[in-house]
Amino acid sequence: QCVNACPCGALEARSEKGKVFRAINDPTKTVVAFVAPAVRSVVSSHYGIPYDKASGFMAGLLKKLGFDKVFDFSFAADLTIVEETTEFLNRVANKGVMPQFTSCCPGWVNFVERRYPELIPHLSTCKSPQQMMGATVKNHYAKLAGINKEDLYVVSIVPCIAKKYEAARPEFAPDGIRDVDAVLTSLEMMRMAELKRIDTSTIEPQEFDEPYRQVSGAGILFGASGGVAEAAMRMAVEKLTGKVITDHLDFEEVRGFEGLKEATIQANGTTVRVAVVSGLRNAEPIIEKILQGVDVGYDLIEVMACPGGCICGAGHPVPEKVGTLEQRQQVLINIDKISTYRKSQENPDILRLYEDFYGEPNSPLAHKLLHTHYHPVNGDVGRGKVRRKANSVFVT
Ligand code: SF4
Repeated sequence: QCVNACPCGALEARSEKGKVFRAINDPTKTVVAFVAPAVRSVVSSHYGIPYDKASGFMAGLLKKLGFDKVFDFSFAADLTIVEETTEFLNRVANKGVMPQFTSCCPGWVNFVERRYPELIPHLSTCKSPQQMMGATVKNHYAKLAGINKEDLYVVSIVPCIAKKYEAARPEFAPDGIRDVDAVLTSLEMMRMAELKRIDTSTIEPQEFDEPYRQVSGAGILFGASGGVAEAAMRMAVEKLTGKVITDHLDFEEVRGFEGLKEATIQANGTTVRVAVVSGLRNAEPIIEKILQGVDVGYDLIEVMACPGGCICGAGHPVPEKVGTLEQRQQVLINIDKISTYRKSQENPDILRLYEDFYGEPNSPLAHKLLHTHYHPVNGDVGRGKVRRKANSVFVT
């Protein structure tokens, strides 16, 4: 019953370590991993790795586990920002449905589909970074490397249990081939290292693989609440003013653990009001007002189901000490500060991907592979029927 009632799909989790080990041991498969931004914050504290060495350690550990290629998920966060901010600015220019909600958290998307389907037109049509990365690897990388899609096995490593449900959605398996074949939580990945008896003190740091090696600090910030909004604001200001910004890149007002944070940017006569919500219960008062036709005073709203964002995902080890979550958040902020590129739209590998493959943001090919449409669940959740009531879901 709990599985059916869970509003964000998180309780439908299955461990996929066995599937991944089988793929790694299958000589006909090229097995590709990509790692979410928030995973390195946990790896850093779990294995005692300094924040500036966490990315190299992650890549080295995954190679040692047997993955053929290891990409950085933050690359897909950059791709998401370019697609989603372009969509947002188009909505502003063309008086589209506003406010626009982010769609990168599958827990939040599931919640909307099941409990507030009337809100779907407000959701960005962008797929989450996980699904954008899967579709890009299965289409762009497969072609580049000359590998049949069927022989490419794509594994996402994330802090999130809802992403397992997301990867299994039928719309993310065009022609019956899933864009993301398996999803491991950070805990499952650490367990795999234990099962293979890897001595993590001997891991040789490695770089992530081409062609998605470069990531921006903005993409790294995705791992904590406010990161998506901050990355989007860094791009929106540039697009609205037509000028490259080199300072005032930090939007500290949207960082942190409060349930609702706000920021406003003014650029070239346009005012953009941004809200950042973490924890689903903090989204409900805003949603109820929007559905009643009340102007909530925001244009762009980021929602993350987990309080504090992905650093608090259920696939991470449970924090044992006070301050652990703040420490995880600080790892991401520190990495952003020392990043060569701090804006998604200046990531050279992203620019090359558009030049060589997608054409331009929101192009027809980008729409085909990087966007989707979300659907009402029509009151059906698994075998049960759902009826809506504030702060609860009933299965009858
Ligand atoms: Fe998953 Fe939680 Fe991150 Fe949403 S906020 S993507 S549910 S870990």
